Amino acid sequence: MPCISRLKKRKIRGYHETKTGKSGCPSHGRETGLKTHKIASRKNPLGGSIEIIKQTFSSIRSKPVKRISFVAGLHGDELEGVYLCHRIIETLRQLKATRPQAFQGEVHVYPAVNPQALSSATRLWPFFSMDMNRKMGEKNGDSLPSGFARSLVEDLQASSDIVVDFHASNLHLKELPQIRIIEEFDKKLIPLAALCNMDVVWVHPSAPVFESTLGYNLNRKKIAALVVETGICLRIHQEFCEQVFQGMIHLLRQTGVLDLADPPPKIKQPLLIHPKQVALIQANHAGLFISNVPLGAHVKKGDLLGKVVDAVRGEVLETIASPADGLLFTLREQPVTYQGAPLARIALQEIP
Ligand SMILES: [Zn+2]
Repeated sequence: MPCISRLKKRKIRGYHETKTGKSGCPSHGRETGLKTHKIASRKNPLGGSIEIIKQTFSSIRSKPVKRISFVAGLHGDELEGVYLCHRIIETLRQLKATRPQAFQGEVHVYPAVNPQALSSATRLWPFFSMDMNRKMGEKNGDSLPSGFARSLVEDLQASSDIVVDFHASNLHLKELPQIRIIEEFDKKLIPLAALCNMDVVWVHPSAPVFESTLGYNLNRKKIAALVVETGICLRIHQEFCEQVFQGMIHLLRQTGVLDLADPPPKIKQPLLIHPKQVALIQANHAGLFISNVPLGAHVKKGDLLGKVVDAVRGEVLETIASPADGLLFTLREQPVTYQGAPLARIALQEIP
């Protein structure tokens, strides 16, 4: 049994930790320049509550130059964006403490908008098995995930001029940092996407599946929404995250939200591609895909990209060659294939 003096020491230590923790505690806005809002909250039947949290860095102006929001975790197994939100909050907190006058605009960060799915690291909201990014829009039902989706759209609409929605790829394919844009919004979104340090900006036609997504619904409401796709789910690719993070700081600077004296660092000029410039390479056999080139490689027509092997018989079932010159911007990471399984995508330098 611990002695009384040790218990006292522990209590005292605990007290001091709470006190000194004040400056770093997100609920103490005055010390950090950060204001925390709950934009949706419901009691969890097993105790505690399910909440969407928004962190706000206010502007020194009564009318902010621009209001930019960052959203992550709509799919609970996509963790790259959650980490990116951490980097953004951490950096802006330091900036707010040292150079508060830099905040000419307003920044909102929603680091974990599908808390139930994130806590179980699943794409869908558990129990309901619902994709929260297919519950946006007018006719989204009256379930708990739908209610949270509605609260998120309403809050973003009320507090944003520009929204960046972070996603990662599925478990099978790894993606270079890219922004995907539905054709009907391209004029407004391409100039913004060009500020974000991406490798690729992919403009594609609309399809019914997009109509219930966050990005589509915000863009329809005239709020510029950029959908970032990077890395792979259930992993954090730090190099890609750093690239996207630098892009987000650049976006904040170029839109006037952050006014920093020093000149902004140079960023990547993304490859702007349309569907005809995307070559999808698929497997013809069930087997194991062994890649031969790294993601991000600039390949030439005929270059060996990899092979599909039959591990049991010790045979190479097929070799995969690049159909054209271009940038390898998607690569299969999960090696098990079936006929038709996507293996790679190449952004073509020339339209065929
Ligand atoms: Zn996603």
